[in-house]
Amino acid sequence: MKPQLTSVLIIYTGGTIGMIENTETGALENFNFEHLQKHLPELKKFDFKIESCQFDPPRDSSDMEPEAWADLVRIIYQNYSKYDGFVILHGTDTMAFTASALSFMLENLNKPVILTGSQLPIGVLRTDGKENLMTSIEIAAAKYKEKPLVSEVCIFFENHLMRGNRTTKINAENFNAFRSYNYPTLAEAGIHIKYEPSLIHRCTNGKPLTPHLFFDTNVVILKLFPGIQESMVAATLAIPGLKAVVLETYGSGNAPRSQWLVQHLTDANKKGIVIVNVTQCGAGTVEMDHYETGRQLLQSGILSGYDSTTESAVTKLMFLLGHGLTPDEVRKMMQISIAGEITIK
Ligand code: ASP
Repeated sequence: MKPQLTSVLIIYTGGTIGMIENTETGALENFNFEHLQKHLPELKKFDFKIESCQFDPPRDSSDMEPEAWADLVRIIYQNYSKYDGFVILHGTDTMAFTASALSFMLENLNKPVILTGSQLPIGVLRTDGKENLMTSIEIAAAKYKEKPLVSEVCIFFENHLMRGNRTTKINAENFNAFRSYNYPTLAEAGIHIKYEPSLIHRCTNGKPLTPHLFFDTNVVILKLFPGIQESMVAATLAIPGLKAVVLETYGSGNAPRSQWLVQHLTDANKKGIVIVNVTQCGAGTVEMDHYETGRQLLQSGILSGYDSTTESAVTKLMFLLGHGLTPDEVRKMMQISIAGEITIK
């Protein structure tokens, strides 16, 4: 064993990676992290310190709520000086939301925080969990000239290291379940792990890690579809306490030209509800001045979400609103990239 140069903390939140089949019902249920280690004697082969902690009880990621994101931030903050990197084992279903949220909550982060999970439990013969976990640990420990190679919140899945707030889960059964359509992968794992240092976010201001814990969840996602009715839009925008909307539009940010839609959106915007336009397409960006059907949204005061994922737009709005910002301050911050989440040309 080398002198204690490197150390990694694994935080097990739950998810398929650590599940086992209930013999009576056949359903997958969480089990204890100790069992995970039993299935992974390989963990002992790393020549550096690996420690772990876990959520009690572990959660399916469908049950991960903002207060659980705050728990993760607390754990990372309290252990920040003790470890070189962090690996978060998490269910895949909402992993992209958690990764996006953490990227905003961990201000001035300059160590790796790698989220990973699996499509098959780790005790199953063909599991993808082993590879995902082992490589994530390697990435969390990787350094060049004493500095971490990765210094942001990422998802590692099926050989790809991706910026967390750029990811989306795109497949419910394939091992290759995540994509970062609008930002290149930060590293590819084959025989070697090939990093792309120029693409990795670095915090160079020298400030200490600043944890943020507060979220305001008065945010809704409104997805347009042909046939959407006025009453549906009106009811959504009239939700008591609503502060922000992620409007999922067509193509490059287009919406039907119905007068009632423009009117409801304009009124909501005037009332102080922040409305952010995000495309329903996986890849590409919102350009509201491209077509007449987009331009009218621009005139209603709706903001471009640029090439943001829905996951990133929702969590960023909750994060900004959680800091008590006014609608105009939130609007301003939505037009700025704070953790590499959007590309502004
Ligand atoms: N339902 C599980 C979860 O997200 C699925 C998974 O882990 O892949 O927690």
